Amino acid sequence: MPRGANLPAIAAFNDTVVLDAVRRSEGGLSRVELVGSTGLSAQTVSNVSRRLIDQGLIREAGKRIDGPGKPRTILQLEPTGSYAVGVHLDPTVITCVLLDLEGEVVAEARRHSPVSGDAMQTLAIVVEAIGTVLAESGVDRAKVSGVGVAAPGPIDTETGVVVRPPLIPGWNDFHLRDELRAATGLSSLVAKDVTAAAVAERWRDSADASHDYVFVYYGTGVGVGMVLGGDVYTGATHNAGDVGHAIVDPGGALCACGRRGCYGESVRPYRLVMQAIWAGVLSAPGGEPVPDGVELDLDVETVDALFTELTQAATAGDDVATSILDRSIRNTAYYLSNLSALLDIDRVVFGGPSWDRLEPFYAARLPGWMHEFDMDILTHPVITESSAVGADVAAVGAACLVLDATFSPRGRV
Ligand SMILES: [Zn+2]
Repeated sequence: MPRGANLPAIAAFNDTVVLDAVRRSEGGLSRVELVGSTGLSAQTVSNVSRRLIDQGLIREAGKRIDGPGKPRTILQLEPTGSYAVGVHLDPTVITCVLLDLEGEVVAEARRHSPVSGDAMQTLAIVVEAIGTVLAESGVDRAKVSGVGVAAPGPIDTETGVVVRPPLIPGWNDFHLRDELRAATGLSSLVAKDVTAAAVAERWRDSADASHDYVFVYYGTGVGVGMVLGGDVYTGATHNAGDVGHAIVDPGGALCACGRRGCYGESVRPYRLVMQAIWAGVLSAPGGEPVPDGVELDLDVETVDALFTELTQAATAGDDVATSILDRSIRNTAYYLSNLSALLDIDRVVFGGPSWDRLEPFYAARLPGWMHEFDMDILTHPVITESSAVGADVAAVGAACLVLDATFSPRGRV
């Protein structure tokens, strides 16, 4: 719990300390409880509470009797006090959500990413989607704190520029934040998608949830968001979370780096789809057999559709499809065992756009693989689970970043 200070110059900071404490509480807090949890004086808490009530960010919500003395007025968050828009730019789908101050999704819109990958065309779709969620929810634009965009890395968070996203060459060095600000009139920020996903998960944390965990983001590629000591770890340039080229399968797939069996390469949907095509489980577009080792230039939508087919074949009992998935799960367990040992985490959360199709296979096989590796490496078991936030996790997280930047004493992460 961040603690405040009793200096007039940082009144705005104290506002965020009190608001954060109220937001994280179950059912609200009294002013006396706020004094205890924030370290602020009773007078400061009283002044701050009045200001936040006047701004419509918190409300008085009845009285509670706590032991002797007069009943205490409970302060609760006012969910309609402010809103934030979150956008997830994925190579296939653009997801747009509107969150209230409690972090609940009140409206959402989904659009296909333009096949051209053109940045300005993408921007026009994003602007339209933002207009749609605001119109559908009836929320006044003046109540929107800003727009957060989760984009594939690498990104420059200082300038809001998407640097060189793989798979979307049309976005190279695109000034996304400034273009979006100009087009919507709303303040904007840009974050890496895995970071946004980890932020969304942290917002859902209850007070007693573990504070050291990783979020494995399964999209077109795989990334890892880290929550360490209760904070999202973003690294020196806010680009932490690239899984790098740790070798988990020495005889496995050839990676762009020239080596075989790098983790990210060995589990990404394209790689699993190609293995299935070579093995004859899936048909390549056009129906011709593809010799082992010959790569196809498949667009992201085709990969996504074939990936669904692969998981359906495994569900139907196809042994080869099952073994392709199982090998990728074993590779994930290798990687996570090392990561768990390095970071001393006790939980791994999975999510992202490709995760729903993999979830049943991971649920059946990952704990066994993890247990096997954990016994040799780790001093305690690691729990694996699916994100509670769902497939929109990166968009939700991008909106949470806006709420954090506006209302949290931590500020922008
Ligand atoms: Zn590699």
